[in-house]
Amino acid sequence: MKNNRIYNFNPGPAALPLPVLEEIRDSFLNFAGSGMSVTEISHRSKWFEDVLNDAIVRTRRILKLDERFHVLFIQGGASLQFCMIPMNFLGQGQSADYVNTGTWSTKAIKEVKIQGKSVKTVASSEDKEFSYIPKNIAFNSDAAYVHITSNNTVRGTQWASFPDTKGIPLIADMSSDMMSRRFDASPFGLIYAGAQKNIGPAGVCMVIVRDDMLKQVPDNIPTMLKYTTFSEKNSLYNTPPCFAIYTVQLVLKWLEETVGGLDKMEEINRKKGELIYACIDGSGFYRGTAAPDSRSLMNVTFRMSDEDLEKKFIKEATENGFGGLKGHRSVGGCRASIYNASGIEAVKALVDFMKTFEKKNG
Ligand SMILES: *Cc1c(COP(=O)(O)O)cnc(C)c1O
Repeated sequence: MKNNRIYNFNPGPAALPLPVLEEIRDSFLNFAGSGMSVTEISHRSKWFEDVLNDAIVRTRRILKLDERFHVLFIQGGASLQFCMIPMNFLGQGQSADYVNTGTWSTKAIKEVKIQGKSVKTVASSEDKEFSYIPKNIAFNSDAAYVHITSNNTVRGTQWASFPDTKGIPLIADMSSDMMSRRFDASPFGLIYAGAQKNIGPAGVCMVIVRDDMLKQVPDNIPTMLKYTTFSEKNSLYNTPPCFAIYTVQLVLKWLEETVGGLDKMEEINRKKGELIYACIDGSGFYRGTAAPDSRSLMNVTFRMSDEDLEKKFIKEATENGFGGLKGHRSVGGCRASIYNASGIEAVKALVDFMKTFEKKNG
């Protein structure tokens, strides 16, 4: 542990890379020679425009996005996207296909229904407590789009590969695994990610949207809920969350320049997943809750034989400098969120702690 900082396994807001926090600290009083903090400068200044554009250029480069894609920054979190997506892309007489893989998908579906629009839940893993990702899904060929949650933060499942929608635009909530692994963006009409899991602080949602989707946006929706407002003004129609975007930019710079890019990041994340799942599978004391072929490399959910033992585990973990290991309040148990900023050292330390705890209590 460095600088009295704990091993942070919080689900979100979550750990940020230490070099990013240090850079924020060091430049806080005088950003880029401006004589002002980044929180004090105009969002229309060259200083901030450089920050915003660098975040966009890096996102495009890291994810290998072609010129059809726009990178936007919108407030209101991933939860506002649940509402904006049907508002912008689901017209009269149309229907959308949703795959329900847990808490966040359920909320996304609810927002379509609130608008009185048609949504078809084409697959769900609710029958087994959302412990798996559905396979062989039959999509409706006339669906306006297909919505999925790429990583299920609460239940600890993740799509290992994305479904073939046969040309129907795919829309994904990637809040908790954005920038953790490579993927081909071309089937996606829109991708969104609340920053506070893997790419920054709370207060901004990254939205990547394809040109053909923007062409469908109707005129008669409120200005701030329209994607074209953000795409036409480079996310500067009104004051954006400057500090959050600045932090995202630094996280992306760290990912490219310190980690060495997305391939390297994915390799590290796979290694971290292997370490912790091997510990769980090899124990007979810890029980993983997600089906092995649906396991998340970002949120590792597990249980013990009884709740008192789980409480003891979390208490002793806290005393030993490990934070955020309590499962989501809706499901209980334990969860280690091992996002990009939780390095292999942190995961190794956690695995050592888990083994010691098992020896004492198993
Ligand atoms: C945390 C989370 C959300 C909610 O994000 P907010 O920014 O709080 O609205 C939505 N989807 C997923 C997958 C999440 O992990």
